[in-house]
Amino acid sequence: MRPFEYSAPKNVDDATRAIGDGQSARFIGGGTNLLDLMKMGVEQPTHLVDINGLPLTGIAEHEGGIRLGALSTNTEVANHPLVRSRYPVLSQAILLGASQQLRNMATTGGNPLQRTRCYYFYDPAYSECNKRHPGSGCAAISGYNRIHAILGASSECIATHPSDMCVALSALDAVVQVQGPKGARSIAMTEFHRLPGNTPQLDTNLQPGELITAIDLPPLPYAKRSHYLKVRDRNSYAFALVSVAAVVDLDESGMMREVRLALGGVAHKPWRATKAEHALRGKKPEPATLRAAAEQELHDAKGYEHNSFKIELAKRCIVRAVTTAVSASQA
Ligand code: SF4
Repeated sequence: MRPFEYSAPKNVDDATRAIGDGQSARFIGGGTNLLDLMKMGVEQPTHLVDINGLPLTGIAEHEGGIRLGALSTNTEVANHPLVRSRYPVLSQAILLGASQQLRNMATTGGNPLQRTRCYYFYDPAYSECNKRHPGSGCAAISGYNRIHAILGASSECIATHPSDMCVALSALDAVVQVQGPKGARSIAMTEFHRLPGNTPQLDTNLQPGELITAIDLPPLPYAKRSHYLKVRDRNSYAFALVSVAAVVDLDESGMMREVRLALGGVAHKPWRATKAEHALRGKKPEPATLRAAAEQELHDAKGYEHNSFKIELAKRCIVRAVTTAVSASQA
């Protein structure tokens, strides 16, 4: 690890001033991803701005929903009674991510900023990685690409976003609150992360120097009927091959009034499955209907040598996640 300066401001304005243009400085909260990247030489900041002293903790009711402070830990969010009772899909997603030790350290504001788990990105011995070195190429496209994207990828990068929490937040239409040199603003979670296009080095739409201060969950009474399904190579401490966050609103006749679906492990960002949502609205959750909606969503999916299995897997996961959500209690 290379030497770096360290500062620990006590308010958000001082923190955003300290980070400057964010080119060579990084905010650090739990540090569960950044420190790994620094040890491997992928990230080499000259200045760390420790935000743990900022007043960004707490989980509280906010405008009919819930506000998650940026420094609330993944453990606190997953186990909070308001989250568990109103947004079970979020609690489930977090508890299926990482390990208990990591969840105790990882923060609400840091989780959306974790970098892809692409093997080639993490190993500077590989010179071809457009995300590390724009213009250098992509070793994964012709390499081992079992964990890579099947939707929304580009010829520059086929990496996937690693978070489970953000998949649930996308389905719930959460809103990210940020503050930076130009003031405060809100970003819809569905717009927070980017597809790779020809700028795969950019994971998010944050502007230089902006800090996540909170994430808001909007009021969504029917989110009590929700489910997070995660399929992975082993049953704990593994990233999703495919995951699905499903939220379903049923009317008295069992028709789906509203459906929210987001997929993880398949794209450079949490993939909001709007085609499937549209196909399912106003329909009964019968197997053939669910399968047809999943087919529509995956119609443009593209597999590579080692990950084409994800296309069929994603279809089956959509069917199972919605079926499970439909049967979830709303008590
Ligand atoms: Fe780098 Fe993206 Fe290619 Fe992985 S998939 S090697 S992160 S450019």
